[in-house]
Amino acid sequence: MAECGAKKKSEESCGAPAMKGQRRCARHGGKSPQAQRAATARLAEQDAKATMEKAVTTLGLPVDIDPAKTLLDEISRTRGARLWLRDKVREIQPDELV
Ligand SMILES: [Zn+2]
Repeated sequence: MAECGAKKKSEESCGAPAMKGQRRCARHGGKSPQAQRAATARLAEQDAKATMEKAVTTLGLPVDIDPAKTLLDEISRTRGARLWLRDKVREIQPDELV
């Protein structure tokens, strides 16, 4: 857990445990609404990143990817497969289906 980085009058760091998702303890602003909102957003971002990294690892894909480029590549591959299947279906004569 991170330590509170607030400076005391003596110039030493506070050193108390920072509140979850924060850089400050409760005595040094960790309870303020803006700090709690920032912590909520920070924790949500960490959760999302962890979820995405786990999914990428599970699929055996490289972890360091550009999500937008990866999605566009996947759309392109899927379109290619769809066009190939369409051509295969068109080659089938109607009487072959029965
Ligand atoms: Zn503190």
